[in-house]
Amino acid sequence: MITEVRAGPYTLRGISVGGVYTTLHVPELDVVLDAGLPLRSFATVGRFFLSHGHLDHVSGLAGLLNIRGLVGGKRATIHLPAEIEGPVRDLLRAHTALARAELDVELVPMRPGDERPLGNSMFVRAFQTHHPVPSLGYQFVRRVSKLRPEHHGKAPEEIARLRKQGGPGLFEEHERLELAYATDTLSRVLETEASLLESRVLVLECTFVDATRSVEDARRKFHLHLDELIELAPRFNNEALVLMHFGQGTSPDRVREAVQSRLPPGLRERVVVFAPEGDRWFG
Ligand SMILES: [Zn+2]
Ligand SMILES: [Zn+2]
Repeated sequence: MITEVRAGPYTLRGISVGGVYTTLHVPELDVVLDAGLPLRSFATVGRFFLSHGHLDHVSGLAGLLNIRGLVGGKRATIHLPAEIEGPVRDLLRAHTALARAELDVELVPMRPGDERPLGNSMFVRAFQTHHPVPSLGYQFVRRVSKLRPEHHGKAPEEIARLRKQGGPGLFEEHERLELAYATDTLSRVLETEASLLESRVLVLECTFVDATRSVEDARRKFHLHLDELIELAPRFNNEALVLMHFGQGTSPDRVREAVQSRLPPGLRERVVVFAPEGDRWFG
């Protein structure tokens, strides 16, 4: 029922059908991306990231928090676009009134460019996506310190001696783009947030994959078409490109067939289709 794929060093578990429901768990980062369905095993994860307020991405939120209360989980943190903080608060208030039980959450409103620490030298940076409602994508980044190039090749004892001296400039800080999540967006996001093309793993929506819908249809709905990715293929430098949020009009088998037959070699091998085995969507 739950789809699980590997992408680079990461696991992605969950369900994603465009317009119906999307929720993904990345255990290595301990995060849930969107909450379109309250999946039992996601309820113990501490951090949630909402891309926007469309119901296929948020309608499972209260259910998840309810299950979380059941299993005694600590207060959940929900990162979300600043513009939808009020409506999400109203939504949770209504659920609290219905159930007469408090849903314990901390909302973290974010704007494009905002960063929040996640521990273990990781942080998240929000970026602008392009959809008809307030929307964000999230880039998960690791800060690593590397030996400056002028010290490369020096013996370990020498490095240790310099380190002891405590002089400045032995190491420099680097940002390693680990995993980016961009859903419900025009392909323009790949220009406005070019770092997506360099992220080790990119999780990207691809609502339409074949000629049943044109690129213009996709753009009118503020979504992405496989044709656009084919055109941009040489620019993806990702170790893995995970495609998700396919429309339910195309079966999982047909999605796989379209992606494999239409993407050029060089990119095709790095693409992971996030869809269940077989020819039927869940539910
Ligand atoms: Zn959606
Ligand atoms: Zn949407």
